[in-house]
Amino acid sequence: MTIEIGIRIEPAADAADLAAVAEARGLDLVVVGARRDVDHAPLDPWTTAAWLAGRTARIAVGVDEPARAPRGAAFGLRDEAPDPRDAERPIASVIGRAHDSLDVLAPSRLLGAGAPSTAGAGGGGRADAASPPPWRTAPAGATLDDLTALAADGVPVVVPADTPADVERIAALAEELRGLAPSRPSRSAAARARRAAGIDYDGVPESLMDAAVEPGDAAYRSVSSTYLRGGAPGLVLRPRTVDEVADALAFARRHPDLALGIRSGGHGISGRSTSRGGLVIDVGRMNTIEVLDRERRLVRIGPGATWKQVAAALHPFGWALGSGDYGGVGVGGLATAGGIGLLSRQHGLTIDHLRAVELVLADGRSVRASADEHPDLFWAVRGAGANFGIATAFEFEVDEVDDVGWAKLALVTPDLEGSLLDFGRIASTAARDTTAFLVTGRPQEGQSVIQLFAIVDDADPEVVVERLTPFTGVGVLAQQEAAVVPYRDVMAQAADVGPDGHRGFGEPVSRSAFLPVLTPEFAADAAALLETGLVHFFELRTMGGAIADVASDAMAFPHRSPAFQVTAMGADAAALTAGWDGLRHHFDGLYLSFETDRSPERLLDAFPEPVLGRLRALKRRYDPENRFRDNFNIDPTVAAASVGSHETRWEAAS
Ligand SMILES: Cc1cc2nc3c(=O)[nH]c(=O)nc-3n(C[C@H](O)[C@H](O)[C@H](O)COP(=O)(O)OP(=O)(O)OC[C@H]3O[C@@H](n4cnc5c(N)ncnc54)[C@H](O)[C@@H]3O)c2cc1C
Repeated sequence: MTIEIGIRIEPAADAADLAAVAEARGLDLVVVGARRDVDHAPLDPWTTAAWLAGRTARIAVGVDEPARAPRGAAFGLRDEAPDPRDAERPIASVIGRAHDSLDVLAPSRLLGAGAPSTAGAGGGGRADAASPPPWRTAPAGATLDDLTALAADGVPVVVPADTPADVERIAALAEELRGLAPSRPSRSAAARARRAAGIDYDGVPESLMDAAVEPGDAAYRSVSSTYLRGGAPGLVLRPRTVDEVADALAFARRHPDLALGIRSGGHGISGRSTSRGGLVIDVGRMNTIEVLDRERRLVRIGPGATWKQVAAALHPFGWALGSGDYGGVGVGGLATAGGIGLLSRQHGLTIDHLRAVELVLADGRSVRASADEHPDLFWAVRGAGANFGIATAFEFEVDEVDDVGWAKLALVTPDLEGSLLDFGRIASTAARDTTAFLVTGRPQEGQSVIQLFAIVDDADPEVVVERLTPFTGVGVLAQQEAAVVPYRDVMAQAADVGPDGHRGFGEPVSRSAFLPVLTPEFAADAAALLETGLVHFFELRTMGGAIADVASDAMAFPHRSPAFQVTAMGADAAALTAGWDGLRHHFDGLYLSFETDRSPERLLDAFPEPVLGRLRALKRRYDPENRFRDNFNIDPTVAAASVGSHETRWEAAS
């Protein structure tokens, strides 16, 4: 049984001191009452609460009045418009600000006000003055028996205190009471008040209790957003072992209607590894990197490792594994989708190096998939992995890679169309040791700034210069940075994610496509689209080379022949889609990792038949209840014939 005991104090000069004593003595809650004789009170209750929250670090805080009442009456004032010139009289806006400060200062400690609306003791605040507070108030001289009776059903109890001696007495009673109770609560009432509806928090498996982050926990901010997307999940489970992943999934199975996001590195653009009110299984802590077989250059990597960490770990062996262009991206999301990176023309996609993957399937089984074990699943994971399970380990055969030529060029051009065309020709006919990506945005005052990022997989500076020189003619070279460095250093440029986690907000809007060949018509249309200003980030990733060496039916990633992968990001989804649709006739398919359009047709773009039919049949076998649906969902219940009709859905349940 949960037993929480606290104090109730009235706004007074020493209120913060009393709260500090209560916290030091291990009490759970301090409630600020609202005296009716406010004319004599030095502060209003919300200001008092904000003040004492700043003086304490842990104790939950409650205010015994509704938040943000517009008129003075709700705060014990006369029922009249407050006079802003009256220094003695708190006014609603001041009180509202105090409430806001408290919400920023100590959101996870604020009990009642500002909390999400849920049932029960954590009743979601008192925005409605008629609803009871989520605590009980005992009489001033309450005895142990009084407290025992009041705390019987787990609702926190507060006892009025005016002096430190009162607080000491209440703390002694609380200790005695807890000694009688079978166990201590795992979450305070303030934290419980922030819980989302529909999640059985008390049913979190024991193995995950210390790996579960709820909205009221101090660590919540660090797990709620992802790199590009804001979120407020109802619960984040952070398993450390395969068994714990299975436990997390069993918990998810008990919540079939809850959005389920799978997270590794949190850089998903298409995948929804965060949500509002849903469940996230975050395997970010499964991030070990080990060498399995030095001769075969076989390594085993946990899904939570980032590509920056992988590059650093492989460097001492003289090895590298091509990933993307950004070392902060997680292994789990990228190695289940493709991995189009700056080593790709020489070394292929990341999934081309995958030799085995371990997954926890929807039914909780842990399986290993490779060319010999569950080969059909192995085929599916390499391109559509997010639909089939939670990858808990990857085995890759990596390549010997010496230092590489790494360049960042900034070029200015008044002729974007001509520059795109030049880039297309130079990049797609370059030697396969050279992979270049182009990034640009809206032309400004008739000029476009083009950034080129390129790797030449050769440590000889002369070769590097020879390969890069043609690119310098794509515009007027404004800035250049070129060096021969370890691949590790290229990946290391990504920022570290600190203990506060990601800071993404909003929803990214992104379109993706494969471009079979960069024609003059495409260059003209793309330049015209950029001129509209709808696209603030436009990228051409050069493909070809080793990517095209693999047969298109070898794995669920079928797009082997395009010359480029194109991405456009904007702010207005509808307008961007309209603009992008004008370019569609140039395209053939899309890379799911850069696409946020949830229209049914996009699924078929990512997985053109017969790939989609095969994936759907496998989905029926491995995930018939469609647990894994946060990223380009292949719905097992949809008949192949109805793809593209209104019946098809791949939207995440977020
Ligand atoms: C700055 C930036 C640069 C990028 N550059 C490249 C690039 O150069 N090349 C490229 O190919 N992509 C690139 N991407 C796209 C990136 O590869 C995908 O967004 C990828 O999904 C991110 O993986 P993650 O683990 O970091 O993301 P998360 O947000 O953790 O996961 C994204 C999705 O992947 C799935 N997933 C994650 N972990 C697992 C797992 N363990 N098992 C099964 N499914 C899982 C889930 O469906 C999840 O929603 C880039 C993204 C960003 C933000």
